[in-house]
Amino acid sequence: MSAAREPSFRESVDLMFNRAVALMDLPPGLEEKIRVCNATYTVRFGVRLRGQIHTFTGYRSVHSEHMEPVKGGIRFATAVHQDEVEALAALMTYKCALVEAPFGGSKGGLRIDPRAWEEHELEQITRRFAYELIKRDLIHPAQNVPAPDMGTGEREMAWMADQYARMNTTDINSRACVTGKPPNAGGIAGRVEATGRGVQYALREFFRYPDDIAKAGLSGTLDGKRVIVQGLGNVGYHAALFLREEDGARVTGIIERDGALFNPDGLDVRAVHEWIAKHGGVRDFPDAIHSADGAAVLEEECDILIPAALEGVISMENAPRIKAPLIIEAANGPITAGADDILRAKGTVIIPDMYANAGGVTVSYFEWVKNLSHIRFGRMQRRQEEARHELIVQELERLDRYLGGAWSMSPDFKAKYLRGADELELVRSGLDDTMRTAYQSMREVWHGRPDVQDLRTAAYLVSITRVASSYRAKGL
Ligand code: GLU
Repeated sequence: MSAAREPSFRESVDLMFNRAVALMDLPPGLEEKIRVCNATYTVRFGVRLRGQIHTFTGYRSVHSEHMEPVKGGIRFATAVHQDEVEALAALMTYKCALVEAPFGGSKGGLRIDPRAWEEHELEQITRRFAYELIKRDLIHPAQNVPAPDMGTGEREMAWMADQYARMNTTDINSRACVTGKPPNAGGIAGRVEATGRGVQYALREFFRYPDDIAKAGLSGTLDGKRVIVQGLGNVGYHAALFLREEDGARVTGIIERDGALFNPDGLDVRAVHEWIAKHGGVRDFPDAIHSADGAAVLEEECDILIPAALEGVISMENAPRIKAPLIIEAANGPITAGADDILRAKGTVIIPDMYANAGGVTVSYFEWVKNLSHIRFGRMQRRQEEARHELIVQELERLDRYLGGAWSMSPDFKAKYLRGADELELVRSGLDDTMRTAYQSMREVWHGRPDVQDLRTAAYLVSITRVASSYRAKGL
């Protein structure tokens, strides 16, 4: 593509899709069927607040129903519009297919500044929006299951789930109508951190392959790698925190709404997060250079760049100046199709959004299964597993006595081995397996096909092939 004009988010998704299908042998009708968004419902509703009626506009878009329910978050932001929601819904289709979450793709949005309203007002607005969607089965455990996205979280999901339960008093599966709920309202351990955790697991998997690391012109492990993260929201914060605290990465830059922090020795991510919560921004944070021009820090030298905020932040304008050899798209659509062309030509390796941020929907899948099975993961097996491990430990202790102290177990082996996995450990294990398997399926195409030069095209090829085979199985 040699567009002189910056493609919109929606056009970018279509261009990237087209680039991939050009390498496939799909019947032209099916190609079109997969690409287009099936339906978008727009609702305008009024809520009486502060003595007057305020009208809000919301959307729920369903991209593909090759599997049901369809799945995808609901964002609350002033910039929400139909094209954006449709692009995000399309990405959900490909994301779910790539990580083998058995869902079609959907997305929702409400045009609102959530910070402009008090909590009780936001609850009224959210419940009213949910009411409109529930009435049309656009929130439904078997048909359409929302989740958090930008500007929403556990609190909003709890309101929506409660609204659904009030309107469907006899539905035994009502809790499965949304995911990302708080733990006391049918949520699952590890969902809040899931997307950031997924970014960490994706990078760990990437760094298991010397060939792939070399393609990015890097070497070694994650330890000591310089990371710049844009957006310290739920996704960016957890990704940066885990990479720093568990993998030894150095977070040298953090870009936020009011500018950026830079410290070549590494920033204390936890402390920066606390500072933002207290002061509303990064300005005046000690131990760092503050730059008012946050976007410029995207162009600083680093090993790994993590855009974790909005779509379109890396465009044709700034792409030529981006120095990071490896970019992992924690946000949806942070690189426009035009910028993608420029970066690929430079040899930048991009770990694409539909894979990189799929940790959220993966753990949502686990939550949905938990809600439908009405039992916490591990509840049946945990103590039985511990009892069996106890038997082995007792035998080893007997052997130890028999050998008269000539051999003994390592000190923490017993405690570690005796503990059966709780829900959080099972969720992490399921997420890790999902991220590894999905990477391998992408990698196989990336390395196996000479006409595929990048991970994004490989990801689209894997996803579209799976979606196409579902359609074929349906007789389409
Ligand atoms: N909003 C998240 C996403 O874009 C999560 C979706 C979900 O959990 O359904 O992937």
